[in-house]
Amino acid sequence: RTSASPVDVLIVGGGIGGLSAAFALAREGLRVRVLERADEFGEVGAGLQIAPNCTRILHDYGLLDEAKDLGVLPGSMVMRDAVDGGELTRLDLADLEREYGFPYMVIHRSDLHGIFLRACRRTGVDLITGARVSGYENTATGARVLLADGRADEARVVIAADGLHSVARGLLADDEPVSSSYVAYRAAIPIEQAGREVDLGEVSVHVGPRCHFVCYGLRGGEMLNQVAVFQSPKALAGEADWGTPDELDDAFAATCPDVQAGIPLMWRDRWWRMFDRDPIMTWVDGNIALLGDAAHPPLQYMAQGAVMAIEDGWVLAKHVAARRAANGPADWQGALAAYEAVRPEHCRRVLTTARAWGELWHLDGVARLQRNALLRARDTYDYSFIDWIYGPTALTPEEEPPMFAPIPLDSADVRDPAGRSDP
Ligand code: FAD
Repeated sequence: RTSASPVDVLIVGGGIGGLSAAFALAREGLRVRVLERADEFGEVGAGLQIAPNCTRILHDYGLLDEAKDLGVLPGSMVMRDAVDGGELTRLDLADLEREYGFPYMVIHRSDLHGIFLRACRRTGVDLITGARVSGYENTATGARVLLADGRADEARVVIAADGLHSVARGLLADDEPVSSSYVAYRAAIPIEQAGREVDLGEVSVHVGPRCHFVCYGLRGGEMLNQVAVFQSPKALAGEADWGTPDELDDAFAATCPDVQAGIPLMWRDRWWRMFDRDPIMTWVDGNIALLGDAAHPPLQYMAQGAVMAIEDGWVLAKHVAARRAANGPADWQGALAAYEAVRPEHCRRVLTTARAWGELWHLDGVARLQRNALLRARDTYDYSFIDWIYGPTALTPEEEPPMFAPIPLDSADVRDPAGRSDP
């Protein structure tokens, strides 16, 4: 055993998904232990965008003020064409906050991770590092994890939040991460090093042929976060050594001066090849359940990966709380079934939409010009395409909103020759 005291829930993985789920369950009075393979809890990377469907949950957790202190609340999100620099569409984030009741924030990953780590400590979560889980088993009364060093631990339920390369996922699916052939370069740097005028009131996204560039402020505007993403020619050619820095400059050679100015600032000693997985609709095997990227790693174009992971823990904890008498045992079977009834379908939609959104961003030629015309025609205050994401997180399939507002049926093209509307 990793520790003497018995717990109700073992969570494998101490990323944003695992820690937020641990906190969600611990605040409902459950005894929770997190097993993290690394020697320290932490996050690599740079900024994260967190939409109102996540800040609503942070508010429910009593953590939103702390997040606001550490993050930035931008005034707008603006999408521009990466070639000519022209504006395509925007979100007015102050109005968006009025619409959804909670803000759109950007925050350093390690700051959000730190918020959950401190919250876990305050609620008594048992936090174990240096614990690499290599196997899972259901038992008569719960589930057991086997550690690479020969130890084992068990609990009523095991939640696997072990990320893209999840070991636990093998219990439920025989799949592999899917390479997009795109790679992300990041940089989070002091604002003085920006070397150009940057509007920190904006989350800015430039979309271009086979590439895009994201830029926003972090830590109250002290830092600048940049993400440069491009399709690797070496990946397309099947070369193993793909996404290397020599490909970065070429990928952005035809972009506008604003984007070009940001490229020399990118970190060149590490980069992130972008993988997702096909959606799976079964996340629970007996007393073992997947959560976060282990269940639904997306391409990041919707900026919902960490957000979905946080939603998973919130939904699971609500269902456990609803099936538990004061400090008594919970009906875990019922709670896991309710979790699995609602989350896989929502996340399937996000995963498939993220793939389509990425394709739209990276168009070239006539298709790019057609995209630009359509995006320019969008009304800034039309939220019909994002209601299903930014609205309250559904606890049941019935609460899950439709993806798109119904299309009016009185238009000519849905009428039959007799003039009746399509039913
Ligand atoms: P992870 O962060 O991968 O955590 C898994 C944890 O499990 C790690 O700590 C790992 O060490 C541990 N672990 C793994 N295996 C084991 C094992 N065998 N035993 C024990 N521990 C183990 N999301 C957003 O919401 N907004 C954004 O703006 C956004 N931007 C992104 C930009 C980029 C370039 C990328 C690549 C992703 C972005 N995402 C964004 C997605 C987001 O980063 C992930 O979806 C999120 O971090 C997943 O969290 P997780 O806890 O499920 O997994």
